[in-house]
Amino acid sequence: MDKIRRHLLLGAASSLAMPILPAYAETFQYDLKAVRIAQNSYVVIGKREFFTKENGGDIVNIAFISTSEGVVVIDTGPSQRYGVALKKLIKQTTGKEVVRVYNTHFHPDHCLGNQVFKTQDIAALPKTISGLKVSGDGFSDNLYRLLGDWMLGTELTIPGIPITFSSEKFGEHRFELLPMQGHTDADLAILDHTTGVLYAGDLCFLDRAATTPHADLQKWYEALKSLRKTPHKVIFPGHGPVDSTDRSIDQTDQYLRWLEGQLVASVKNGKDMIEASQMSVPPEFKSIDVIKDEIERSVAHLYPGLEEKLLPFVGQGDG
Ligand SMILES: [Zn+2]
Repeated sequence: MDKIRRHLLLGAASSLAMPILPAYAETFQYDLKAVRIAQNSYVVIGKREFFTKENGGDIVNIAFISTSEGVVVIDTGPSQRYGVALKKLIKQTTGKEVVRVYNTHFHPDHCLGNQVFKTQDIAALPKTISGLKVSGDGFSDNLYRLLGDWMLGTELTIPGIPITFSSEKFGEHRFELLPMQGHTDADLAILDHTTGVLYAGDLCFLDRAATTPHADLQKWYEALKSLRKTPHKVIFPGHGPVDSTDRSIDQTDQYLRWLEGQLVASVKNGKDMIEASQMSVPPEFKSIDVIKDEIERSVAHLYPGLEEKLLPFVGQGDG
């Protein structure tokens, strides 16, 4: 969608040459708070919800680390407006400029705030960059539909640095860059060796149901195993609270395996997608927010692939 169509869609009046934002757009403000989780290390914790016009897409976890060379930022949020609020918070908290931004993966809640940072400072895995080039505008259009005016002015910004190296050092902080797969086909986990904080991106969810639109579950289980083996003190998941007991790994693994088991059984029992969505949630997952909604979405994402894999071909080879 181009800028003019977005502008019209959002109901702004006046001439196309000089677009004027509706006055009420000024009231769309993100209330972001920095929480210190380790030496020089701060996080902004998103709501455990789906995208709504009430939350403006403030549903994602962001981190920033203040080094003697400047600030390292992990993910940038769902919109330009979020990016502006984040940049202001970073400046207020650290008094320093941003020197590096990492995008953990290509989902829009993690990287549509990119445009407030310098393209040449933003680093991501090569497949994250190619994925954004192919799908980023579609993601952005979808968030315009879901979030409306919160998205005004947001334009996709592609990271300028493909991560083909395994670590980077800024001041006293050494960041190990761990390419993984499973939530998407390029998921970047980042270990800060100086603090022991493992930034897991959306490979880990905690008390907020995992999302699966680009998931490969077998690869995701492998990634969770690798994260478990990576020496760390604390995990910062992509959604949900800070985790010092690996509960985010356990819960994500157990939830996805349970979900896959339910779906496989449904395929084998000949259920359709609507019937398959009606699974009852076991008590151990009762703390997980938006689980019913995400199960419905996951059935839509995963069921066709499982049917293709598990159901015998009909009418082939019998001719
Ligand atoms: Zn994601």
